[in-house]
This record gives sequence, C-alpha cells and structure tokens, in this order.
Amino acid sequence: MAGMWPYYPELLSRPVPRYTSFPTAAEFTPALGAEALDAALTATRGDVSLYVHIPFCDKICWYCGCNTSAANRHQRLTSYLDALTREIALVGAKLDGRVKVRRVAFGGGSPNAISPTEFVRLIDALTIHFAADNPVWSIELDPRNMTQGWGQVLRFVGVSRASLGVQTFARPLQEAIGRVQPTEMIEQCTQILRASGINSLNYDLMYGLPGQSMDDLEDSLTRSVALGADRIALFGYAHVPHMLPRQRRIDASALPGQDARFAMAAFGHRFLVDAGYVPVGFDHFAKPADAIAQATMAGKLRRNFQGFTEDQAPVLIGLGASAISAFPHALVQNEKNAGRYRMLLSQGRLTGVGGVLRDAGDQRLGDIIMALLCQGAADIGAGMAADMAGDLAPFITRDLARMDGGRLTILPGGLPYARTIAALFDPYRKDAARRFSSAV
Ligand code: SF4
Repeated sequence: MAGMWPYYPELLSRPVPRYTSFPTAAEFTPALGAEALDAALTATRGDVSLYVHIPFCDKICWYCGCNTSAANRHQRLTSYLDALTREIALVGAKLDGRVKVRRVAFGGGSPNAISPTEFVRLIDALTIHFAADNPVWSIELDPRNMTQGWGQVLRFVGVSRASLGVQTFARPLQEAIGRVQPTEMIEQCTQILRASGINSLNYDLMYGLPGQSMDDLEDSLTRSVALGADRIALFGYAHVPHMLPRQRRIDASALPGQDARFAMAAFGHRFLVDAGYVPVGFDHFAKPADAIAQATMAGKLRRNFQGFTEDQAPVLIGLGASAISAFPHALVQNEKNAGRYRMLLSQGRLTGVGGVLRDAGDQRLGDIIMALLCQGAADIGAGMAADMAGDLAPFITRDLARMDGGRLTILPGGLPYARTIAALFDPYRKDAARRFSSAV
C-alpha cells in the first residue's frame, strides 16, 4: 500500500506542526504560569504520567531541536539536578494523595549524560514524593554515553523501555550532522540494554539528511531490523536554521529536495511494513507484539509531547526546565532557561511561565486532530463537514480522504498528508508558515 503513495507536492508546500499537543506550543502565552500550574496540580485526580527532562548531552548534534546543552560543567549539572529534585518534592506535595503515577519517562537531552548514581537519586526522589503504582519506566539514551554501569542501574530500577538516537548508520552522514557513532557502538548499546531487561527498544532514524541516498536509508533500516528494534521512529530532518542556529553547520546545499524526501518516506514505510512492522501514526512503526502496535490495532493510540503513545492517562506532568504539563483544560510550560529555573526553585516556587487554556472548542478540535493523526479518522459531524467541504476538497477529490456523513477518514494513500489534513482543523494556523516543518 505504501508503495502506492501518490505525490502531490502542492499539498505539502505548507509547513505544519507535528501536533504533539493542541493548541501547539506556538500558541503559549505568558498569561498562564505558576498559578495555573498550581491550581491544575491541586485539582488533579486519578492516574498521571510523569515526564522528567534532563537538558544535557555529552556532545551537541548539529541537527538537534531539543532544549539541551553540553554537559561539560559538572557544577551546572549538579545544581540543575538539585533544582529538579526540589521541583519533584514541590509538585509531589501539591498532588492529592490518591493520585497514582503509572508511567515515568526520562527524556532530554540525554538522560544518560548524568551519572548512573545521579539517576538513582532522581528515582529515589520520585518514589518518595509521588505515589507510584508499579509504573512503566522509560528512558531516552545516547549510545555514545552508554556504559555497563548504566545497564546495571536500568535493571535495578526496572526500566523496561528505551529509545536510542540512531538517526543513520552511514558514517559520512553521521559526520554531516555532527553525530558520529560507529555501528559497533550501537550494537554494543543494544546488547547492554537487552541484558538489562529492556523489552521495548526504539530506534530513532532520519531521512532527508544532507547527502543521504536511498541506499543509505535502506542500509540503516536493514540494520535496525536486524538488530531487533521493537519500534522505529522514522523522522524527516527539518532544516530550520532561522529557529535553530546550531543547524547552520549543516550543508543546506546537500539536503535532498521535496521529491526525494517524499520518496524516502514512502520507501521507509513500505520497507518496514514488508519487514512485519505495524505502522503507528504517521512516522512510527512497531513489531505487532509491542504495546504501541497493540494500542494502534485496538484504536487506542494517542499522541503527547513525547510523540505517539499508548498512554491513556489524562494528565501528563512535566518536570525539569522547559518541560510541559498537559491537563485536559490547560497546557503549562516550565521555565526554559536553566538558570532561571534553578532560581525559581531555590525560592520554593513552581516554574510554570507560559501556556494556554483549552476551552471546550479547543478540546473538541484537539480531539479531532489527535483522532486523525492516531486513528486516521475522526467524527467531525455533519455541520463541520459542510463548513470544511472546500478545505477538504483537494484531499477528497484526489482519493486521499473520504467523508461519510460526518466521519472523515484518511485513506491509505493520504497518510503522508495526515498532518496537512489535521492542520485544516487548527484555527491558529493562518499566519504561522515559518515556524513549522514540511509534513514529509
Ligand atoms: S544526543 Fe539527542 S538531545 Fe542531545 S544533542 Fe544529540 S539529538 Fe539533541
């Protein structure tokens, strides 16, 4: 099916968000901050998930869009972890005692830029200050920093899921994006993780890299499948140096054009489906037994700030500089600047500094956007179908989508256009062309 993706460049010319939330972070304003976060935390009931942000990496990759910096000054790192520990205590104290933590995800940056001992201290703080109910622990890892010591700690804590930044196995491409990690390093890291009990291992891969050929992509996919990745996320590299100055080191003249990018995305999709992986959303793939594939097949896939997920918790609490907390009625982001984040916590204050309220209309539109991206279909109702007929016509007349009564379905050939179709339901997207990447 993927090999039959029809190519309509005119439908992909508009940059669109990745919709890890709706409204997106581009709509955050300073009007919503610590007070709103405090009120939302205090009112939270039921199950929650935690996201813990470690904004440090051993080396900074040139393509990276994350809020991270080099972990080269140990004093800065330890004072950040002190502040994070304070935030864990502060937020934990705000929650009703019956609130249960079912998932804890560590991301960054690279959580393994800190030491295994420092990681265990964070785990201790989390288990002391939150009521954890046998949570699923997951972690993003940099293979360049992986050690046997880390493997032992992951086993000790019971971390069962890990995600590796692989991107490509091709050495010249690794050099072109400032992330050199020999194949043996990725293999060894994978072995350590398997031995430590990781049963869901994700590889992040990229297409659209400078100088990347289809053979390069096929080689990386082949190696990833051979190494047994349970999940593969295949992202298109987004070159936005006006927003991410570190990307200026990447040779823009060597970047594949839109046609080549589309062909790579289509090839990757077909390759992984042929290899037995279940497509998950618009850019993830998972082995059929993996929890996220199961959620996809059961129509329960969701999307949050970490991407596609099977997590059903209505509240995600973000801990750490720049982390975002998501409540049904509001999104609140922590202070991004690590120095100001530390200062606020030294004063015993929550660090929410921006966000957006989600009124009933936003929640309804958010549900539609998430349903289109996660389930490939959404009930939009006859009234909205009539209102949107003109916007949807280019997709429906090309057999990329279908309307049945009030139900909008993205057809198999429409998958690469899913974000573009979803963006039609985003009223904030009228004047924001430069802030987002192309859908493929
Ligand atoms: S290791 Fe990951 S988070 Fe760190 S700079 Fe590279 S891409 Fe960014």
